[in-house]
Amino acid sequence: MKRDEVQVNWTGLSEEIMQGIGEWREQHPRATFREIEAEIDKRMSELRAKMISDTAMASGQAEWETGAIGVVCPKCGEKLEKKGKKKRKLATQGGREVELIREYGVCPQCGQGIFPPG
Ligand SMILES: [Zn+2]
Repeated sequence: MKRDEVQVNWTGLSEEIMQGIGEWREQHPRATFREIEAEIDKRMSELRAKMISDTAMASGQAEWETGAIGVVCPKCGEKLEKKGKKKRKLATQGGREVELIREYGVCPQCGQGIFPPG
């Protein structure tokens, strides 16, 4: 994904979220401060998760593909063999799960499978 496309996606999603919050407020005119806070947190965590996932994927992939980082086995120091892209699930602080599609490497010496750092 190119940087411009990523940012267009973020802008679209943030507009949706802001509109959603406005609509929610109309439907919940008596919501307490805490309820408003919880609702906004919940909605913002969606954008947060998407931004984390997109940013992590963009930088991690670029580094691996250009060879800017040496991806080696932490045990043997052997250069990892690329084994194609795999999904990796990570939990964010907002309690959401982010799915990253990352290049996956395997150590030719010990067979250890590793996702590049990031
Ligand atoms: Zn190894």
